Amino acid sequence: MPRPISATIDLGALGSNLDLARRHAPHARVLVVIKANAYGHGLLRAARALRSADGFALLELDAAVSLREAGYQQRIVLLEGFFDARDLPVLVEHGLTSVVHSREQIEALKKLPAGSGLDVFLKLNTGMNRLGFAPEEFAAALTALRDNAAVGQITLMTHFANADDARGVTWQMEVFERVARNAGLQRSLANSAAILRYSATHGDWVRPGILLYGCPPFADNTATELGLKPVMTLASEIIAIQQLKRGDTVGYGGIFTAERDMRIGVVACGYADGYPRHAPNATPVAVDGQLTGTVGRASMDMLCVDLSAVPQAHTGSRVVLWGEGNPVENVARAAGTVGYELLCALAPRVPVIERE
Ligand SMILES: *Cc1c(COP(=O)(O)O)cnc(C)c1O
Repeated sequence: MPRPISATIDLGALGSNLDLARRHAPHARVLVVIKANAYGHGLLRAARALRSADGFALLELDAAVSLREAGYQQRIVLLEGFFDARDLPVLVEHGLTSVVHSREQIEALKKLPAGSGLDVFLKLNTGMNRLGFAPEEFAAALTALRDNAAVGQITLMTHFANADDARGVTWQMEVFERVARNAGLQRSLANSAAILRYSATHGDWVRPGILLYGCPPFADNTATELGLKPVMTLASEIIAIQQLKRGDTVGYGGIFTAERDMRIGVVACGYADGYPRHAPNATPVAVDGQLTGTVGRASMDMLCVDLSAVPQAHTGSRVVLWGEGNPVENVARAAGTVGYELLCALAPRVPVIERE
């Protein structure tokens, strides 16, 4: 028998979360974000479950090409564009759409043959200060693209830094509106948080990522409250039981000390499976459907859980690290991170089970 760990991916939940995005943004087309191996869920697997989307967005050229080769005919957007001018013929050949965020990219595009019909998303930096043209550079960038006979359709895009928190999007929307108002071009602005919270941002193309995977983009909402269905369940089993005496410690560094005699379970899951090593004591886990917490530091292949409140637990008991009965956002919060990081860290060595 294989090691008992597995990740179950609920394909129906992916489709249901896409439907939810559509209900929130009924007038926009939906570009589903499947970067980072679809946030750890598997690129082609997620694409199949999300095949009714109007388009896909990701980073790597080879992943985009593999989507085309799998037969997807929708728009495919490279979110950071091309990294080398030598890749441009591949984009053209496969009808990919490139984000254009830098002057270097604008220069490289000038060498493409006229009539190439390369569609672009021109990215405006409205305050995220990561990728995109500053507002004062924008007009020149747009003119250069309009004057380039190799370029097809131009869509304007920006990305929000605070759509999920109290600062909100207005400050960035003001910049976007000021610069883009008279351009007469299609727009793409909204990530998951903006889709759910700010209908004024929806524009022509929305870009949901995390919500598709059933994880709330907001710190203070549960998936259930938002109508999201969790997609990934990382589960394993107890492979050994230890009886601790008061004062015993657990694992490397002994970061947990038993305050009384207690029973713990050793679970076949560690940081080499994608579980966060920095998760502190009492990070939530579900054992036989009952919530309890970790004890000690996760090691490469194992972690330990408190069985004080789960007396019936035994070797072979099912342990949900995140997912069903133990929302990934709660595990992430306890570990000082976000669901995004846990999901996309799922390690290749974990076998995946698909559920329709
Ligand atoms: C990752 C990403 C998204 C999706 O963000 P979520 O918060 O996961 O919805 C949208 N747009 C861009 C440019 C991105 O990089």
